[in-house]
Amino acid sequence: MDILVLNPGATEEQLKHIIKKLEGRGLQANISKGTERTIIGVIGDTSKISEDEENAIRAMPGVEDALRILKPYKLASREFKNEDTLIDVRGNIIGGRKIQVFAGPCAVENKTILMSIAQKVKDAGAAFVRGGAFKPRTSPYSFQGLGEEGLKYLAYVRKKTGMPVITEIMDPRDMEVVSKYTDIIQIGTRNMQNFRLLLEVGTAKKPVLLKRGLSATIKEWLMAAEYIMSKGNQRVILCERGIRTFETATRNTLDLSAVPVLKKLTHLPVVVDPSHGVGKWDLVAPMAKAAVAAGADGLIIEVHINPEEAFSDGEQSLRPDDFATLMKELKPVAAAVGREI
Ligand code: PEP
Ligand code: MN
Repeated sequence: MDILVLNPGATEEQLKHIIKKLEGRGLQANISKGTERTIIGVIGDTSKISEDEENAIRAMPGVEDALRILKPYKLASREFKNEDTLIDVRGNIIGGRKIQVFAGPCAVENKTILMSIAQKVKDAGAAFVRGGAFKPRTSPYSFQGLGEEGLKYLAYVRKKTGMPVITEIMDPRDMEVVSKYTDIIQIGTRNMQNFRLLLEVGTAKKPVLLKRGLSATIKEWLMAAEYIMSKGNQRVILCERGIRTFETATRNTLDLSAVPVLKKLTHLPVVVDPSHGVGKWDLVAPMAKAAVAAGADGLIIEVHINPEEAFSDGEQSLRPDDFATLMKELKPVAAAVGREI
């Protein structure tokens, strides 16, 4: 038994009683109050519940049915919650009709550069500014990010432009400082299965953007989302950013089929990062358009005013003019699939 569906007229008293019953069995209740009825996600090892017990719970006042979910992830599944999850970040809805664009440099380099990139992407129509302050670099000798100083620059830019910001967390010990400055917490591809980190951001009061692991299957990715959700944070955004394959012509292989697959399996918003997916700036625009056509709810795009001088990922960063052109070209693509950008 993984889900309890309550009667439309179930009372608060009955709900409390059911929660108490579950807690007495070492389980937790995740309450989802829909417009018509309340659904309880049963969190914990539900395999221990016997059939007799399940029948007894099904007969409790206020309970309409007790169901099992066949998927290993529950809270993330469409079986648990059929309607799309909408995530409101300072008035910008992620997962709705409007496709949200997150743009900015790979890394926060300094205040002036960040500010001028943010202003340009805002003028071109991006709603969010991105930029890493803690950078996961392959080499320990590469630029590792500015840390808290970089977070302060992001907060400054948010104040000046009004754009909400997204930045990556790499270590559970940075939870307090990162959530103090950012609007959305990003988990990078290398940390998709850093379970301690997932549990930590599961307690955050901010939405989490979870990038797909370099070699993760869609099921593993949804299980990672489940880790976050099991701690109470239901505001998870999935981000396809390319996976490792035998192909070397592109940095990664952008798996756009993941978008419609995820749309079937989960109610969570799905965004695509074509920049890390292809690794080359001239391939970003066609894949961004393809992502929108495939049904993505948003795009993350690296933009730099001077890509050849960028501290990281300059080769895949768009110049502001090219980004502005792309934003215009995306409009008819979005309209063709019933969306707007
Ligand atoms: C990034 O967004 O700059 C980043 C490091 O992405 P990923 O984790 O997808 O490599
Ligand atoms: Mn990058």
